[in-house]
Amino acid sequence: MNYSTEIITVRQKLADLNAPPKPLEHTVYEEREAICDRHGVFKQRCRRMALHGKGIETKTECPACLSEKLSQLQQA
Ligand SMILES: [Zn+2]
Repeated sequence: MNYSTEIITVRQKLADLNAPPKPLEHTVYEEREAICDRHGVFKQRCRRMALHGKGIETKTECPACLSEKLSQLQQA
């Protein structure tokens, strides 16, 4: 993955975190507290999708880590 693609990916993740979750079919959202090694407690959003009998779970990353990553990428 090149830098610009990664910047877009990280930006999108941050934007998703700032927006309310989109209601989707077969999808359940759950907010829980998670702990980042570097930034402490943050609200993690857990998305569970039931698709074709399989459960897919995605968890959001620490927003502070994402912001840092973005500024690092932009400086590179
Ligand atoms: Zn963090």
